[in-house]
Amino acid sequence: MEKQLEELQRTFLEDLESIRDPEQVEQARIAYLGRKGRLTTILRQMGSLSPEERPRIGALANSIKAKMEQALAEVSARIASRQSVQGIDVTLPGRVLRRGSVHVINQVMAEIEDIFRDLGFQVASGPEVEDDYHNFEALNIPENHPARDMQDTFYFGPGVLLRTHTSPVQIRVMESQGLPVRIIAPGKVYRCDFDITHSPMFHQVEGLWVEEGITFAHLKGVLYEFAHRCFGPEVPLRFRSSFFPFTEPSAEVDMGCIICRGAGCRVCGNTGWLEILGCGMVDPEVYRFVGIDPHVVTGFAFGMGVERIAMIKYGIDDIRLFYDGDLRFLLQFA
Ligand SMILES: [Zn+2]
Repeated sequence: MEKQLEELQRTFLEDLESIRDPEQVEQARIAYLGRKGRLTTILRQMGSLSPEERPRIGALANSIKAKMEQALAEVSARIASRQSVQGIDVTLPGRVLRRGSVHVINQVMAEIEDIFRDLGFQVASGPEVEDDYHNFEALNIPENHPARDMQDTFYFGPGVLLRTHTSPVQIRVMESQGLPVRIIAPGKVYRCDFDITHSPMFHQVEGLWVEEGITFAHLKGVLYEFAHRCFGPEVPLRFRSSFFPFTEPSAEVDMGCIICRGAGCRVCGNTGWLEILGCGMVDPEVYRFVGIDPHVVTGFAFGMGVERIAMIKYGIDDIRLFYDGDLRFLLQFA
């Protein structure tokens, strides 16, 4: 009988482990301590014991019964306290949250900002929903100008659009802030275009320095410093004459291909050069729109695509990888 009691205590403790709600507590109480419960059933056999054994087994049975009652009371209290946290089981193991990381585009943008901050540029911003005046007209792109076709534009309605470049920030800063101006404007821009090198939303960094005595030499100095800090001190640049409505003269800047080091490869189309940005001296016509006398000050502007810089820097050949949210891609930059 002593063995039966010990066995009973063991199975009771096992059953106790699986109890999760008040209903199970009550079921356990009935199964062990009820009128037809297992302990009661064992105690009914007390009559068969010898008079010497009876007090000892009786005391043991009583102590087991007391322990069971106490254990059930404790489990009840624990369940009640859990349920008081509005149905949340605070004792369950927590879910491990994976830490996010800064997206590679934001990393590259921050790096570009750091370089230009060191060169004395301030960071400016402007609205992504622009008006026609700031996005085109004040940048010397009048209505029906063929340059408007170069930028497939998302329109909301007459005169309201998603900015196609960060250049309108130049106009807004020159309108609102006195000279000198030395800013970069990083941000999102939108064009109706989508393939492996174009995305309907992408990022640009615009730069503008307007002050007395600024020349093309300053422009070259700033861009060389940028390219050398971003891609390495040895990387060569070349300036090709080009056309933009808001700069004159204008240039496109190529960088020696960092993959083949100028020997020619698939990425650079066997030319040994990669185009990285557009730039030029601010067209005097643009100053007219913001009330600045082009006979007194000069300045330069440049604009680069952040995705393009990141693709060259990391050898990425499909722009869509930036936006797919594929962790296998993103974790390489975490
Ligand atoms: Zn190459």
